[in-house]
Amino acid sequence: MSKEIQPIFILPEGVTRTTGKTAQRNNIMAAKLVAETVRTTLGPKGMDKMIVDSFGDITVTNDGVTILEEMKIEHPAAKMVVEIAKTQEAEVGDGTTTAVILAGELLQQAEQLLDKNVHSTVITKGFRLAGDACIEKLKELAQPVTEKDDALLRKIAMTAMTGKGAENAKETLADIAVKAVKKVIENFDGSILFDKNNIKIEKKSGNSVEDTEFVEGVVLEKEAVHPGMPQLIHNAKVALLDCAVEIKNTEIDAKIQITDPAQMQAFLDQEERMLLKMVDIIQASGANVVFCQKGIDDVAQHFLAKRGIYAARRLKQSDMEALARATGATIVSNLQDLSETDLGKAGVVKEVKFGDDEMTYVTECKNPKSVTIVVRGGTPHITDEAKRALTDAIGDVAAALKSSSVVAGAGAVETELAKHLRKYAESLGGREQLAVEAFANAMEIVPRTLAENAGLDPIDVLTSLKAAHDKKQIWAGIDVFSGKIMDAWKQGVIEPLKIKTQAITSASEVAQMILRIDDVIASGKDRTPAPKMPEMGDY
Ligand code: ADP
Ligand code: MG
Repeated sequence: MSKEIQPIFILPEGVTRTTGKTAQRNNIMAAKLVAETVRTTLGPKGMDKMIVDSFGDITVTNDGVTILEEMKIEHPAAKMVVEIAKTQEAEVGDGTTTAVILAGELLQQAEQLLDKNVHSTVITKGFRLAGDACIEKLKELAQPVTEKDDALLRKIAMTAMTGKGAENAKETLADIAVKAVKKVIENFDGSILFDKNNIKIEKKSGNSVEDTEFVEGVVLEKEAVHPGMPQLIHNAKVALLDCAVEIKNTEIDAKIQITDPAQMQAFLDQEERMLLKMVDIIQASGANVVFCQKGIDDVAQHFLAKRGIYAARRLKQSDMEALARATGATIVSNLQDLSETDLGKAGVVKEVKFGDDEMTYVTECKNPKSVTIVVRGGTPHITDEAKRALTDAIGDVAAALKSSSVVAGAGAVETELAKHLRKYAESLGGREQLAVEAFANAMEIVPRTLAENAGLDPIDVLTSLKAAHDKKQIWAGIDVFSGKIMDAWKQGVIEPLKIKTQAITSASEVAQMILRIDDVIASGKDRTPAPKMPEMGDY
């Protein structure tokens, strides 16, 4: 009599599991889809995407990382690819699309090898070797750049912005990006330090991108709290408060019973006296400008205005920190503790009108390493995209200076790397050779996509490009406007070395990681309802 086979469950209910080839292929497919999404945006002729969120808010952008973040991707392998874009953004600030499509293409090439029964461990080993070879070769190809090479730095900024919404104003923005980076970088023991927090970017819709302004100092999207306050203060002594200039204590809810109108008056008088005392403390410290992270009571506003003190309230934490850096002020959490030593200095604090709104300019600061760029643009969407383009340009100029190395883009460096890898592959035996060749093919996704997005025939372009590189024209790239081959270096398509090294390293690492996965165990979505929040009256 045959025994019945009992099914064995080792995983809890609701957990889905895919294994082996299915798991691997699913992950590859998901990652490739992510790459496919951003592919059409690459390069000067790349298209933009319009993303509408659940609130109906619209983003129009060409920026890889912005697209992927706004898409709220869920698939785990796809998310790993999105992470590449985020790392690229954090490390360099540009090259996000490049990194993602490179990862997609590496997986595409790997898939073809898997079809030929090359094992994934062989592929990952080959990819690792190829990635290292690329980095070495890149260092050899890279050209030096220093703070003094203004013309070169401007080209880097312009390359970062070609094809973005701010294209028309790219000369103005490139000048600003270079000026801003040069202003805030610091030479420290021969290495260059750059803190991007020192460059604050504010947006103000109106006028055109050409009117974008570079300000040495901090610009706040805030107005003076009271119309009676001075609009211009020279030799400002700045107090930074992260406590409210109010009496209300929102944590304690007290009731006062008043039986007699005189009592009411006494109570109000008392309140006024307390606020007056607070203003006295501010004045006694010697401050003539107050920036407060919390609220300022109407009565206090009135007293401050009467004493000629400029005040703005409800500042963002990041603005408070920027002001502290720029003016040298200490942020004070308890008004009683405010003293002269906490104050910062700025030559000028003034309120500037922009249409119906006002902004506060804090300039001629003690620390000249704080700058603000006020980005303008016809509509909020244009301003947003101009800001993203400018951020890319700033990131690229800073990255170029930090490693003092640049390479030429337009597909030049990728084609040269592919050529180098093919030669290197020949020196390897066995199946790893195939993986290195696959890596070389993947590098060509950059020139191929640039050509495709420009409406050129990718096969023709790639053939002429390779022919030029075979003739030792290392910087031969694609002129996306004429469809011809150009010397990308001479044409000024210059990018920081770091864009390429970071993109190649992270794309290769993620591709390897995805290839090594052969089992996906996913718990179901937790469907237990969130605990009910107590209602306001429950206390
Ligand atoms: P990413 O998010 O990767 O930075 P971009 O849309 O900014 O994507 O495109 C960058 C690519 O465009 C790079 O490969 C760069 O070399 C190329 N590129 C930039 N300017 C030009 C140009 N004027 N001609 C040809 N290619 C260019
Ligand atoms: Mg870019």
